[in-house]
Amino acid sequence: MRYLIVSDIHANWEALQAVLDATAGQYDQILCCGDLVGYGADPNAVTDWARKNVHVIVRGNHDRASVGMEDLEWFNPVAKAAALWTQRELRPDNAAFIRNLPKGPCAVAGFQMVHGSPLDEDEYLVGAADAVAAFSYISARVTFFGHTHLQGGFIWNHSRIETVGKTGPQAARQLLDIDPDCLYLVNPGSVGQPRDGDARAAYVIYDPADQFLFYHRQPYDIAAAQGRIRQAGLPEPLAFRLAAGR
Ligand code: ZN
Repeated sequence: MRYLIVSDIHANWEALQAVLDATAGQYDQILCCGDLVGYGADPNAVTDWARKNVHVIVRGNHDRASVGMEDLEWFNPVAKAAALWTQRELRPDNAAFIRNLPKGPCAVAGFQMVHGSPLDEDEYLVGAADAVAAFSYISARVTFFGHTHLQGGFIWNHSRIETVGKTGPQAARQLLDIDPDCLYLVNPGSVGQPRDGDARAAYVIYDPADQFLFYHRQPYDIAAAQGRIRQAGLPEPLAFRLAAGR
């Protein structure tokens, strides 16, 4: 079984379409580490697609915020404005679907998926110290996570932590060899709002039987996504940051 693993789509329909076009025929199932909506201008199109096509979706903090399950006091003004806009925009059936998304971790065929970290769906796994703490309570060989919008991850290699960086700017993909003696925390990166300095949409193709995992980056029509954000009246920084990949 081959999986297309995505995260943090954030209602960016143009980025999602580019990923789906680039990966057609390369996977059997799609999995998502959360944040379908929030920030971008197409929450209904993305949720309609997810309902039909994604096998497992772990809920993200922006999914909760977009259906009134989160105290927006902790959101910055731009994120709060986007969450309130998304609450108004989402059709009731899509809001109900998002409200019922499971909290991670979700087990899938020998690996697992979370939004933030295995213990706390809202925790940001950014550095090696965060990863050490997370590895201490996971047993699945591979855990996929999102939330930081940073492609890469961490390897627990005989009590040593190694950091996996994002795919280089000149490369379209990067192989991660899966060693059965190691544990892996893998962030596919963000489809709809990358923050690792690379504006291209990010995703992973994973085949647990063959033990191969590829990180990918895919260019998309950023100007079109920015146009949709401006047309919707969402805050300008949400359009600007897409081009910067920040
Ligand atoms: Zn997110």
